[in-house]
Amino acid sequence: MEELSHFINGQRTKGGSGRFADVYNPATGEVQAKVPLATVEEVNDAVAKAAAAQPAWGATNPQRRARVMMKFGQLINENMDMLAEAVSREHGKTLPDARGDVQRGLEVVEFCMGAPNQLKGEFTTDGGPGIDLYSMRQPLGVVAGITPFNFPAMIPLWKMAGALACGNAIILKPSERVPTTAILLAELLQEAGLPDGCLQVVNGDKEAVDALLDNDTIQAVGFVGSTPIAQYIYGRACSNGKRAQCFGGAKNHMIVMPDADLDKAADALVGSSMGAAGERCMAISVAVPVGEKTADALVERLVPRIEALKVGPYTAGDDVDYGPLITKAAQDRVKGLIDRGVEEGATLLTDGRDFSLQGYENGYFVGPTYFDNVTPDMDIYKEEIFGPVLSQVRMDSYSDALKLVMDNEYGNGTSIFTADGDTARDFANRVNVGMVGINFPIPVPLSYHTFGGWKRSGFGDLNQFGPDAFRFYTKTKTVTERWFSGIKEGGEFAFKAMD
Ligand code: NAD
Repeated sequence: MEELSHFINGQRTKGGSGRFADVYNPATGEVQAKVPLATVEEVNDAVAKAAAAQPAWGATNPQRRARVMMKFGQLINENMDMLAEAVSREHGKTLPDARGDVQRGLEVVEFCMGAPNQLKGEFTTDGGPGIDLYSMRQPLGVVAGITPFNFPAMIPLWKMAGALACGNAIILKPSERVPTTAILLAELLQEAGLPDGCLQVVNGDKEAVDALLDNDTIQAVGFVGSTPIAQYIYGRACSNGKRAQCFGGAKNHMIVMPDADLDKAADALVGSSMGAAGERCMAISVAVPVGEKTADALVERLVPRIEALKVGPYTAGDDVDYGPLITKAAQDRVKGLIDRGVEEGATLLTDGRDFSLQGYENGYFVGPTYFDNVTPDMDIYKEEIFGPVLSQVRMDSYSDALKLVMDNEYGNGTSIFTADGDTARDFANRVNVGMVGINFPIPVPLSYHTFGGWKRSGFGDLNQFGPDAFRFYTKTKTVTERWFSGIKEGGEFAFKAMD
């Protein structure tokens, strides 16, 4: 059995706790490796070593740091297939999906190549007689990134690229379900020229996370995961005086107006609800057709499309639409929620509970599942299912549909399909959700915008990546200066003669 490592001071380092978590092959249910779970002492040691490495990195000029990002980006490109394979092996997503996972992280690395421009600060000349003011952005010191299982490359890259480009050292605590990709990325960063200790990958569970939250050297915590843990981490980090941004779960709705191109809406719904087995925080999990005719027309289009989906292991080829869920517990939970939906009286149009694949009977697969006539009081509407399950809530009017989205406790992403610009504009302006798509199903912003949900999908200030990353990972210092030699009595400023 392969025993995985931490990555400390530039080296793969065996765990010393004697505690391990199993890493599964989700397509077969077999344990393929075990990952060490760090103790408080191991976490504190990694932080101390990062604190020793950070000052020199923070004092390295931004352009040199950006060159490390440039080389890192090049290495990610050269190793794309190796990284995608590592993602798929532990997560189970298809290889095209895994390449997308790496690619969307790479784009953030590319944005961070422009760090010198983002960090150059502000300047006011002659704010008063002979007085200049300037604001500079300085690194925080050592920060922590705690990431979820569903994007083993992208989200660690969001965290490390922003923190490092700003001159910080970062402790990354990846999901214990998918630990390998973060180590591979750390090795590529080292090859790109990052000094040892600036990125420490510490594997672990709650014990390691709590150690990070309680360590006084850690200045900021960037978390992505489920809402209860996001809220917990936000509270504990803040009460320990740290800067924190904690992104949580989601329930993303797509409103389909009667004037929408229904074929395009149906294609978009299938991809965004079932893609990556629904294990995306930006997955559309609720279809909201406006009017009975629209709803019936969607059913007519969606059922055959959903039934045609090919589910299987990533090794079965690029025509597989999606793979298994991450764990047996996730599979049981999703199937249990489908049972619950049936009990609650929703209409089950396609049922993924009995899905089975020859040779992969122990894999964590769930077939594509589509419920109609879901109502807002049902558990399948209220809970984030995080599986290949689409719920359809029929609404009579645009106002009712908008109210449904606005009343939902989550606010990560949402979308509207319509041919009417006024409706789309009204929706974009009024909806209380962080990322909005118009005739666009998964509106993940590009790397030079920012990513962040509202309501219970995000706790704290500032978004991930883009210009907000440079705000989150730096402190602003403002200097007001004057030089008395140039000021005459009475406050009048005079230039000195230049001999
Ligand atoms: P999770 O909350 O179980 O785990 C996330 C991280 O927190 C992991 O590193 C894990 O080790 C750690 N953790 C788990 N339990 C903990 C505890 N009790 N105390 C301290 N740390 C703990 O999330 P997950 O299952 O890995 O990921 C799926 C969730 O992440 C979904 O809810 C999804 O919507 C969400 N997500 C959100 C975004 C976003 O940007 N909003 C992006 C991706 C995923």
